[in-house]
Amino acid sequence: MFAILWPKRQAGYRRRTSASTSNRSTVTLSPTTSLHQRRPPELYAWYGAVHRRSTSQSVRVKLDSSVGFREPYWVARGGRTPEKWKQMKVQIIPIALGFCQCYVLRADGVIAVDAGAPNKGSRFARAMERAAIPPEEVRLIVLTHGHWDHVGSAGRLGQMTGAKLALHEREIGWLEQGLTPLPPGITPGGRFFIRALKLFMPLIKVPPTKVDIALRDDGLSLTDYGIPGRVLYTPGHSSGSVSILLDSGEAFVGDLAMNRFPLRLSPGLPVLAEDSSAVIRSWRMLLEQGATTVYPAHGKPFPAEVIRSAIGA
Ligand SMILES: [Zn+2]
Ligand SMILES: [Zn+2]
Repeated sequence: MFAILWPKRQAGYRRRTSASTSNRSTVTLSPTTSLHQRRPPELYAWYGAVHRRSTSQSVRVKLDSSVGFREPYWVARGGRTPEKWKQMKVQIIPIALGFCQCYVLRADGVIAVDAGAPNKGSRFARAMERAAIPPEEVRLIVLTHGHWDHVGSAGRLGQMTGAKLALHEREIGWLEQGLTPLPPGITPGGRFFIRALKLFMPLIKVPPTKVDIALRDDGLSLTDYGIPGRVLYTPGHSSGSVSILLDSGEAFVGDLAMNRFPLRLSPGLPVLAEDSSAVIRSWRMLLEQGATTVYPAHGKPFPAEVIRSAIGA
């Protein structure tokens, strides 16, 4: 469906990106490649962020690191409600916008999770082009919370897509006034990180941005936006933090979990939090609601069992 020719010399491959998309319907990946042996070709095709080097007999595949991870994601739907969702698959596209790992989710509709650090609009546009998703298809941008690294490009992404911006009502004031509060560290490493970050905060400017949807503690269904899942209120890292839980168990939790240096060396609970007992309560709720895979905003996804054992649930 969609692949990008990987030129003989790596330099300049970006120039070929859009021209090569016209080949999308005819591309097949050779079964001789090692990557292909591990994953079906349609997975690469749908994910879109694939580079391809074609010779007469073989094809080499390289994932585009600028999209985020080296692994594509393909999520099969579980079943909750209603019937038509049962066969639905949700495409998960990770997009690194600064220090924040954002996600675009596509099923019947397209939504984005988080909006990254300031001035990341063009990076988002490039990633969407590679994923072959017109930005205007994004109907909703759920901001998991109001910290600068998650909302910095919210205004720009909102303009680019026309999507509604949703943020919990407790933190709308931060974004609408361009405030950049920091959470406290709750581990020695977390405290050190925040002390170091404070030195750079005068350089970070979040453009004040109007929020369209004030999320409340009872959350929001995403079925109206074509996504089989819900926004759940999960305070702890901050008092207005929310998570997106797909019916198939994938949980996009913002900073309710972390899995990236220098925050953490391994997946687990956040090292920064306003209320660590609320972190535990939120996690108990997410696990009860069926979270199976955790997609943190800092670091790679990991199984929810890691959190289950960390909190003794
Ligand atoms: Zn945060
Ligand atoms: Zn963060």
